[in-house]
Amino acid sequence: MADSIFNFTSCGTTTGFGSIRAKNYSAPVDLSPNFSQSINHTKAIVINADKVNGIFKPYASATIQDQLFQVLSLVERKERHFLENTKINWAKNTFNPWQGCTNCSDGCDHCYAETQDNRMLHDTVTHWGKGVERRTMSEQYWKNPLAWNRKAERDSIRPRVFCASTADWADSEAPAGQRERLWETIRATPNLDWLLLTKRPKNIRKYLPRDWGEGYPNVWLGVSVENKKQGLPRIDVLRGIPAVIRFLSIEPLLEDLGALDLNQIHWAIIGGETGPGARSLDTAWIKSILRQCKEQKVAAWVKQLGRVPEENGIKLRILKEDGKRDYKGEDTSLWPPHLNKLVVRKLPKPVR
Ligand code: SF4
Repeated sequence: MADSIFNFTSCGTTTGFGSIRAKNYSAPVDLSPNFSQSINHTKAIVINADKVNGIFKPYASATIQDQLFQVLSLVERKERHFLENTKINWAKNTFNPWQGCTNCSDGCDHCYAETQDNRMLHDTVTHWGKGVERRTMSEQYWKNPLAWNRKAERDSIRPRVFCASTADWADSEAPAGQRERLWETIRATPNLDWLLLTKRPKNIRKYLPRDWGEGYPNVWLGVSVENKKQGLPRIDVLRGIPAVIRFLSIEPLLEDLGALDLNQIHWAIIGGETGPGARSLDTAWIKSILRQCKEQKVAAWVKQLGRVPEENGIKLRILKEDGKRDYKGEDTSLWPPHLNKLVVRKLPKPVR
């Protein structure tokens, strides 16, 4: 870390976990390239200065460096913890081989990854849109799946890894070499089940590895299905591609999908939209999907009701124990009793 001194106050904000600030101090430290990446997932960094005669006096730069080294190690620990856990209730980890994408569908209208990207939390430029360079990930980041794989082997478990939450793995504008690196990583982690989800199923065949055959045993292929017009045709494309598990992410569910052909589909995740501007979801739409899943022997997982659940056009207010709104509708213990039939969280059986 260089000892040149720059402004460190208000050096960034985080991905929703709090802000980073230097308290009582306005003139620390050159940030190493890794630092800005590392701080993205921490809650707060506070560096104090001594107050002498009412004026804040900066520490000597050596002291500041010492403090920052301690901070960095704390941040790295937090980042590791963050990366090992996802808030998505159907996966254990998320992994993004790169960050950035282009909106391509109605389901992208409130893409939280784009919102984050526009706030430039990870970089000084955005990574969204046609012809815009995607953000590549650090060497350290790429080591995470290898560590998860070792742990999974030790613990005799098979964690599900969602790929990707801030990109689309079948994006035709993936950074050079990164999709190939993803496949290498998938091959090197046989104890993880990788869930590759896309809104671009027509690109899947072109981007599968040469030795894909009937499908890698540790890869589940999925498509997003948010509506009839754009979502349903994706199911037909997915059905024609070999995979050990094919799944649908019916989220955000934007309308009644009507009759579904779930032949050769193994799993359906269902959920409403969350976040600012979220569109409503009628619980009748979920009931219809669940009924069809049952009839066609497809495992279903109702992830959440979303921010604006409705019943027959009337808004449902889901409240937490403290009386505040539950804006995700994910905690099934808060759902009204008559929605018990929607509490379904089943996983697909391994097909081979
Ligand atoms: S495809 Fe996914 S990551 Fe890309 S813009 Fe749409 S919602 Fe966001």
